[in-house]
Amino acid sequence: MQIRVDAEKCQGHSRCYALAPELFDIDDYGNAHELNDGVVPPELEVRARLAQANCPEFAIIIGD
Ligand code: SF4
Repeated sequence: MQIRVDAEKCQGHSRCYALAPELFDIDDYGNAHELNDGVVPPELEVRARLAQANCPEFAIIIGD
């Protein structure tokens, strides 16, 4: 699984970071970006989906 944060949509709520700090990091403004080039290990796939579901801006994109 692969994740990506759409920087145009991200509004810096940091919910993704709160839910899955292994997958996301945030800058000084709270805007998120994906870690590990967006590669999600199998054991973190549930958390990636949780973060996506909790992003109010629909900024988290999940691919294969
Ligand atoms: S939850 Fe969504 S809007 Fe908030 S920091 Fe994460 S990607 Fe950005």
